[in-house]
Amino acid sequence: MFEHDVIIVGGGLAGCRAALEITRTNPNLNVAVVAKTHPIRSHSVAAQGGIAATLKNVDPTDSWEAHAFDTVKGSDYLADQDAVEILTREAPEVIIDLEHMGVLFSRLADGHIAQRAFGGHSHNRTCYAADKTGHAILHELVSNLRRNGVHLYQEWYVMRLILEEGQAKGIVMYNILDGHIEVVRAKAVMFATGGYGRVYNTTSNDYASTGDGLAMTALAGLPLEDMEFVQFHPTGLYPVGVLISEAVRGEGAYLINSQGERFMERYAPSRMELAPRDITSRAIAYEIRAGRGIHPDGSAGGPFVYLDLRHMGKEKIMSRVPFCWEEAHRLVSIDAVIEPIPVRPTIHYCMGGIPVNTDGQVRSGSDGFVDGFFAAGETSCVSVHGANRLGSNSLLECVVYGRRTGAKIAQFVQNRKLPIVDEQHYITEAQQQIQALLAQQGQYRISQVRHAFQDCMTQYCGVFRTEQLMQEGAQKLQEIQNQYSQIYLDDKGDCWNTEIVEALELQSLIVVGRLILASAMNRQESRGAHFREDFPQRDDTNFLKHTMAYYSPAGIDIQYAKVAITMFEPKERKY
Ligand SMILES: Cc1cc2nc3c(=O)[nH]c(=O)nc-3n(C[C@H](O)[C@H](O)[C@H](O)COP(=O)(O)OP(=O)(O)OC[C@H]3O[C@@H](n4cnc5c(N)ncnc54)[C@H](O)[C@@H]3O)c2cc1C
Repeated sequence: MFEHDVIIVGGGLAGCRAALEITRTNPNLNVAVVAKTHPIRSHSVAAQGGIAATLKNVDPTDSWEAHAFDTVKGSDYLADQDAVEILTREAPEVIIDLEHMGVLFSRLADGHIAQRAFGGHSHNRTCYAADKTGHAILHELVSNLRRNGVHLYQEWYVMRLILEEGQAKGIVMYNILDGHIEVVRAKAVMFATGGYGRVYNTTSNDYASTGDGLAMTALAGLPLEDMEFVQFHPTGLYPVGVLISEAVRGEGAYLINSQGERFMERYAPSRMELAPRDITSRAIAYEIRAGRGIHPDGSAGGPFVYLDLRHMGKEKIMSRVPFCWEEAHRLVSIDAVIEPIPVRPTIHYCMGGIPVNTDGQVRSGSDGFVDGFFAAGETSCVSVHGANRLGSNSLLECVVYGRRTGAKIAQFVQNRKLPIVDEQHYITEAQQQIQALLAQQGQYRISQVRHAFQDCMTQYCGVFRTEQLMQEGAQKLQEIQNQYSQIYLDDKGDCWNTEIVEALELQSLIVVGRLILASAMNRQESRGAHFREDFPQRDDTNFLKHTMAYYSPAGIDIQYAKVAITMFEPKERKY
């Protein structure tokens, strides 16, 4: 059995920032990070547009209060305002800390960190490293971890959280390289496992964003918060779905329909292309539905709209958003200097997740915490994004709450003993689970079931939702879950058996999908990213509350928890 003071699952921004804080606070602690990918292949590395903070380098009138208000309004008033206050107040400090670590931010002519406009933000406050911000930050963090002696387990798939009598005691993990299983016991366990974009068939997320941490938490009997809030990013490159960063609109690009109109005028006249993502994505979906989308041959009535950069000029495009130009060029042969880019909404981010307090401690219900269990980053719900996240607030959440969670863990593990864990019991169970998958004599390939599942979630729980549609979706999902028990694996070996990983990931996806659907069905209102055509208004009287969904194979139990409102009273959300 492996032993560490702290085991962190996830090598993205949140996990790495927490690990760094623990070793900075107490260099004697034995800290390990485990990831199913190499840490610098975590999805954080793909973050493009930037990270928000009121440094006031470009706009001296900005303030943390303005950032907090934009975030709360963007969240459609579902964010917990105490958590938003911490996020926005601590933002400048964490950015300067990253800068001191060596992160190569883009600069103004006077040498200060440059800041650009972003959707839903009232001031230019998004710091960036061209359009490769995640890359710049994650690389620096990972090299700092190595310097600080953090142990990295790369390409291990964590299968299970060990939770006994309300205490997190460790994890069970599968070595993708050679198929052997290990138990890790630790004084504190942290999940920083990222998002679940792969629940849907078109996403900007990487292949590893399968919601494993969420599923493991749900399967351990713990609740997940606000799972119905799934963010569609307005500008996924058609047809592949990869992201064309909001930075492109921040730098001045237009959205155009088949009639050549800048149609955002109809939906958010004061913010135009820089309205929050939920509003912009729905606007694009409405345009496409109304026949004002565009076909690949340029005719009207097609499945996408145009993102037009041409008026920005070559020099600005190549210096501010070179990666977006390259994506369009490489993937769909479009030269954005002279042609508009075809885009449509793509699944991008999950606002919900593992409920935590502002120190990253995981909640066991509406009150109470799980002893020794922590979470931060996209997999957690603190909740700073409420029903809709503003662009460039997620990287910020990872570093602010990664740091806070790390500091809390360092304090928590002091004077604690390693828990007692029955290693053999957990190894035997995990081996049986793998053996059962290998021995299964089914009729479906994994990819067949996964595609059916992703199509089902996209069709029945997408941008527009109704009771009837979601009921049909729930039935289909039941059939798909039955098919999962009849999948077969071609590869029966134990060396680099990625089919086993895919089978385990598909189980995570299905658990997460069921939680999203059940949470969405129960929320009979429209708020942020959750849009119900049968309940098109926001309903603060009945639904200004967080969903807490408990999973069991038999069904999902939905409860609710209070929203913290400390600074801004809810009002109508207009842009
Ligand atoms: C294309 C793209 C661009 C974005 N741009 C921006 C932006 O400009 N600004 C912004 O604020 N946000 C942006 N975001 C969102 C932001 O990047 C993410 O929310 C954030 O990086 C998530 O970081 P994380 O540390 O929570 O998780 P991730 O970076 O996703 O890391 C998850 C880690 O968990 C590990 N893991 C998961 N499951 C297991 C398992 N079962 N066993 C072992 N390891 C596991 C993975 O290997 C990985 O190391 C963007 C997102 C995308 C997809």
